[in-house]
Amino acid sequence: MSDSDRPVVLRNGLVLTMDDSHTVLTGADVLVIGGKIAEVGHHLTAPDDALEIDASGGIIMPGMVDTHRHMWQTAMRGYGADWTLTQYFVWYYLESGKLFRPEDVHAGNLLGAIEAIDSGVTTTVDWSHGLQTTDHADAAVDALEAVPGRFVLAYGNIQQGPWEWSTSDAFRDFYRRRIDGGKLAGFQLAFDIPGDPAFQEKAAFEVARELGVKVTTHAGVWGATNDDGIRLMYENGFMTPGTVYVHAATLSPDSYHRIAATGGSVSVSTESEQSAGQGYPPTWLLRKHDIPVSLSMDTSVWWSGDLFSAMRTTLSADRSREHMEAHSTKDTVTHHHLRAEQVVDWGTRGGAKALGMDSEIGALTPAARPTWC
Ligand SMILES: [Zn+2]
Repeated sequence: MSDSDRPVVLRNGLVLTMDDSHTVLTGADVLVIGGKIAEVGHHLTAPDDALEIDASGGIIMPGMVDTHRHMWQTAMRGYGADWTLTQYFVWYYLESGKLFRPEDVHAGNLLGAIEAIDSGVTTTVDWSHGLQTTDHADAAVDALEAVPGRFVLAYGNIQQGPWEWSTSDAFRDFYRRRIDGGKLAGFQLAFDIPGDPAFQEKAAFEVARELGVKVTTHAGVWGATNDDGIRLMYENGFMTPGTVYVHAATLSPDSYHRIAATGGSVSVSTESEQSAGQGYPPTWLLRKHDIPVSLSMDTSVWWSGDLFSAMRTTLSADRSREHMEAHSTKDTVTHHHLRAEQVVDWGTRGGAKALGMDSEIGALTPAARPTWC
């Protein structure tokens, strides 16, 4: 029996189950057998060989889920602390991003994966848009497979149009070798739709459809993507369930209606939107349109890998906006609409649902997989 097969019981903690009722148990235990949660409750009987962990005074919660993190950029962790989005684009898209070698992507992904796990983020979408060649992609996957966590590779390449790299023989060969039946938790295609009426991105959407994988796209980013990209996706039938729209901060009600009506969700990176300038963090609008939300850190070139900071900033940005909107009509907010509990949901179950993995992760319920399995 390997260590990972040994039963584990966590004792006497404050358990945030994040089940459908958001049940909270005080002084409770969580029993894990065979890599799955067997039982949650009080005074559980554990197998004799179970590893006992005293969780007194601590919180036991599901591992957090980040739906958008450019892990290859972790090699430059903290370098852009004072950047705007414009400076980021110049550095990564125009000047230095193309200098990254496969070993640089490997280094960033390795550090990024460890940083995620160290922060309690047990499932991360590696929004990997620095894959200039499939050698870079192999290096990215090598690093992700070397770290015990769940990683979804969102394949992208900002040095080419998505209609170019996604239709290449090299990409198809990589998919067969590393993804189909591989060890990663999932796979997405990652590219943006700036709104050119020619809509060449159609070819990449067709590849995603053929492979049966989802698309994730930076949508509603001030100065980069807008309603035109959403409209083109909609008119061509590519706004499908499971599509993850990142930021979605500068969109019209029409676009929000389209996202809501087609089963998409939005990955909100509040620290990024506030500092880089994609637009005001949109949760206050997404709530109005009943659009599912997940959270993300975006990139460690500015921010940390800590999703607790995403939860705190998302809560305060939403409340700040609610107060501002009320004051503009001489009203007063007496009770916040967005509750702390809801933001914890977005950081756990919200991400699991966005990735279609909520039957396995995102809640401490029997049969779910705990953080470390
Ligand atoms: Zn991003």
